[in-house]
Amino acid sequence: MKGKFFIQTYGCQMNVHDTEYMCAILNKAGYAQAQTLKEADIILLNTCAVRQKAEEKVYSFLGRLKAFKKRHPGLIIGVGGCVAQKEGERILKRIPYIDLVFGTHQFFRVAELIEEVKKNGHRICCIDYTYQLEPPCHVFPLSHKMYGRAYLTIMQGCDNFCSYCIVPYVRGRQISRRSENIINEAKRLLDMGIKEIILLGQNVNSYGQDRLEEISFSELLFKINKLPGLKRLRFITSHPKDISPDVIKAFADLDTLCEHIHLPVQSGSDRILKRMGRKYTRSEYLQKIEALRKACPEISITTDLIVGFPGETKKDFKDTISLLQEVEFDAIFAFRYSDRPPAKAVSFPEKVNEQEKAERLSEVLEIQAPITERKNRVKKGRLLEVLLDSYSKRGQQLCGRTRCNRVVNVEGDESLMGHLVEVIIEEVLPHSLKGKVVKILD
Ligand code: SF4
Repeated sequence: MKGKFFIQTYGCQMNVHDTEYMCAILNKAGYAQAQTLKEADIILLNTCAVRQKAEEKVYSFLGRLKAFKKRHPGLIIGVGGCVAQKEGERILKRIPYIDLVFGTHQFFRVAELIEEVKKNGHRICCIDYTYQLEPPCHVFPLSHKMYGRAYLTIMQGCDNFCSYCIVPYVRGRQISRRSENIINEAKRLLDMGIKEIILLGQNVNSYGQDRLEEISFSELLFKINKLPGLKRLRFITSHPKDISPDVIKAFADLDTLCEHIHLPVQSGSDRILKRMGRKYTRSEYLQKIEALRKACPEISITTDLIVGFPGETKKDFKDTISLLQEVEFDAIFAFRYSDRPPAKAVSFPEKVNEQEKAERLSEVLEIQAPITERKNRVKKGRLLEVLLDSYSKRGQQLCGRTRCNRVVNVEGDESLMGHLVEVIIEEVLPHSLKGKVVKILD
């Protein structure tokens, strides 16, 4: 064994999955995973730059590592992912005890870069865009924390350049993996006993549009649905402008496709949607919601919202509130706008002050809370299929998700992990459900 590594991950599921890849690559290269920071010889951060708060968390964590490095001079500290891509050499200049900075296209090289630091004693910054999407064939990423579910990346990057978003600048332009490779990876996951596959991409609905010879996203869904052993299929994230009638139809036609979609609307005001560069109107968004509910009446719909975008007036904000009331989402993820250079909106005038943003955020959360609660309450007393895939936060209960993506906690022993079970829902909490296992389904 060459040493132990610890990876601290921030951000979205793409980052979580990139960390899974890094773990598999480092294991293969002879490193073991440390259970705690203290026992690590290598500490890596997989960072998120989407919101200012996420970036601040990274720097605060790095600050805590200063004393660590002093006590263990041989310790290697590396910063990877979106903040690394955005800041590059500046991180090495600003923080003298960082050894390695590696960008969003360098995850597959992590072991090689660590070896280089060790061998030459040089500090390294590597943030080139390689557009290499195929993982090294000798590693296979599976989370140690998820039973029965696995992520599968189908594409990287984004071409949309929404005016508030930093993703195209830190993840690069859209590039889709070959469908043949995706399907082979899905087959291997199923052979390993995985029951639920979650397809990942910044904008999965535009899958294949960067490759003339490729199939469309809906065709990919239809192909994966046919694979023997697959029980559940999900995907994140979708862009409302790109979700096609064929993908909507898939919710009616494909038995494995779970009854949940995350469809970020961001604002209910046409004026703000235009300034955000989202390329759809409120009414077009509502039409898609209607079509989804028609195709799949049981579908659960969640969304993202930004409040306090530059120029958002009280009237624009009211449009967002009325959209929430009209759609009645199952859950929302709402955020205050923050400038993310070099995104275009950084230069937009009429910035909304922080106090106003905080008030708007509280208001949307207040409006949504009873809607979410009511939608959860109807699940009480129902029998729902749950895939038990993790332990509850305090580790005393088993935890899983319904097909409509509700979190459910149950009592039970370890032998149930990774199983699809039928649960009777007995209690409804603000963010989860509680129930009892009635039978094992697989
Ligand atoms: S679609 Fe817009 S919000 Fe989503 S990653 Fe691309 S640029 Fe960012």
